[in-house]
Amino acid sequence: MSRHLGDGLETNLNCRQVLRTGVLGSAHVMGGCMMGDDEKHAVIDSQGQYHQLENLSIIDGSVFPTSIGANPQLSIYGLACKQANGLVEHLGGIVTA
Ligand SMILES: Cc1cc2nc3c(=O)[nH]c(=O)nc-3n(C[C@H](O)[C@H](O)[C@H](O)COP(=O)(O)OP(=O)(O)OC[C@H]3O[C@@H](n4cnc5c(N)ncnc54)[C@H](O)[C@@H]3O)c2cc1C
Repeated sequence: MSRHLGDGLETNLNCRQVLRTGVLGSAHVMGGCMMGDDEKHAVIDSQGQYHQLENLSIIDGSVFPTSIGANPQLSIYGLACKQANGLVEHLGGIVTA
């Protein structure tokens, strides 16, 4: 942490100050609507359908269970493509790509 934030941040006290002042941020927010078939622990099922409402799909990085610990964009593209194709089929359309 101190290597990225510069000198003077080696102590827990300084790290806490950084967190309090909101200097840290994240560009990889994930996990807000996690996917899973158990609706007690997940927002959408494995097809991307919301557990509690019909005809609501969620297709974005929020469906990952948590941050995947690497740059997520390509994984999000891949999962979104799979989910979108599944949604087209579910709605009775023909997947062409
Ligand atoms: C500065 C920066 C650098 C990054 N660099 C990389 C990188 O190098 N490599 C990498 O893999 N990842 C990188 N990321 C992360 C990556 O861009 C995100 O993790 C990814 O784009 C998230 O995809 P998403 O579909 O979940 O959300 P987003 O890409 O944010 O898409 C959400 C979409 O929903 C739309 N939206 C929001 N609210 C509404 C609404 N109410 N109604 C309709 N539409 C709405 C928004 O306009 C947006 O188009 C970076 C992110 C940032 C911010």
